[in-house]
Amino acid sequence: MDSATNSRVPERRAGLRTLARRVGAAARTAPVPLLVLRLPQFERLAWREGRRAAHRLERATARAFADAARQLLRVGDAIAHDAGSDVFAIAMTSPSRAARLPSPTDCRAVLERVAAAISSHTNLRVECGWTPVACCRGAADLEREIDRALERGRRERERYEFFAVVGHELRTPLTSIRGYLETLLESGIDSVTAAGFLETARREALRMGRLLDGMFEFSLLDLSVDAIPPHGCDVAAQIFSACDVVRPLAAQRGIRVATAIEKKRKAALDPDAALQLLINLLENAVKYGRDGGEARVTLSGDGEHVVLSVDDDGPGIAREERESIFTLRVRGMQGGQRPGSGIGLAIAKTIVERAGGEIRVTDSPLGGARFEALLPCWAESGAPAS
Ligand code: ADP
Repeated sequence: MDSATNSRVPERRAGLRTLARRVGAAARTAPVPLLVLRLPQFERLAWREGRRAAHRLERATARAFADAARQLLRVGDAIAHDAGSDVFAIAMTSPSRAARLPSPTDCRAVLERVAAAISSHTNLRVECGWTPVACCRGAADLEREIDRALERGRRERERYEFFAVVGHELRTPLTSIRGYLETLLESGIDSVTAAGFLETARREALRMGRLLDGMFEFSLLDLSVDAIPPHGCDVAAQIFSACDVVRPLAAQRGIRVATAIEKKRKAALDPDAALQLLINLLENAVKYGRDGGEARVTLSGDGEHVVLSVDDDGPGIAREERESIFTLRVRGMQGGQRPGSGIGLAIAKTIVERAGGEIRVTDSPLGGARFEALLPCWAESGAPAS
């Protein structure tokens, strides 16, 4: 087993198996931060350019990894990499850390610097993430923790990008409100023009409110991987709660909110997340549906999936937009776009995918859009059905 090891770390040839033992032993005293870097393009490159090129690249990466780690780690921390694998791992097992465990900021800082060193040597994209490991009984546990660390890293990045976009997007309405107010403060504006300016400023302020609401909703999504309740989620109960939430909005436009529970089912999903998913989809069904029409939630499924469908009788979604409406992107109100924060569906997608499910949009038999979420069933054995 080829391996790269920090020269200041006692075990000079740590592969992932050895690392699992070290982490297991250290975790008996305190949780061990496990930092993971992965080069997702590695495999494709090896396949495209041959084994030799792949080995050369792997050696260069291992060297860059070890050099960067040497600068940043302490005696007793461990690094590991198995030959042929695209994963490089660091365990902060140094006894000198006993007094103060590394903070999330420390872990992120180390990861970012090691990732930057690797990608500047290889020109390859590096995915990274970290997780605290409380127990590790062997290689299989370590593998799970590696996946968990990478998943956390993905979510952190997703949030970071999201907040960066929202922050940027908040400037537009703010600038527009300021512009209108400054014009209004100048004399010589007739009352009709002034009323128009005030109306626009109010609309922009409302949009800022929606952006902020979406931002808070998104920040409340649980970062942990295992947010599944011990008894699964009673989906029908969440459907009824979500209908109660949107009915006042629907009533304003004479829209009937109907439910069709074909069979009561439990899903492997956090109930709050299920409620949020349903509210987001139902609010859209009501928002985009016809006045005096109908929005409908159906609960069905097979042995493997709980299927939630939300139908409406609005304009539906054009085929070419069916992918992009789920992306985490905050839209303004430019051009012919409809008003909205554009966050609701991104949140819905995040919730569903985090649970291991899928979400898609098709045509509804009611004439508008059908949003369909496939969620993993909850197996009474205490685990999601596989
Ligand atoms: P918002 O509705 O606040 O813009 P969403 O993320 O919930 O944010 O929706 C993104 C976009 O997808 C909407 O702006 C709208 O164009 C479209 N959309 C969502 N749901 C529906 C629906 N039921 N019918 C038609 N269009 C929809």
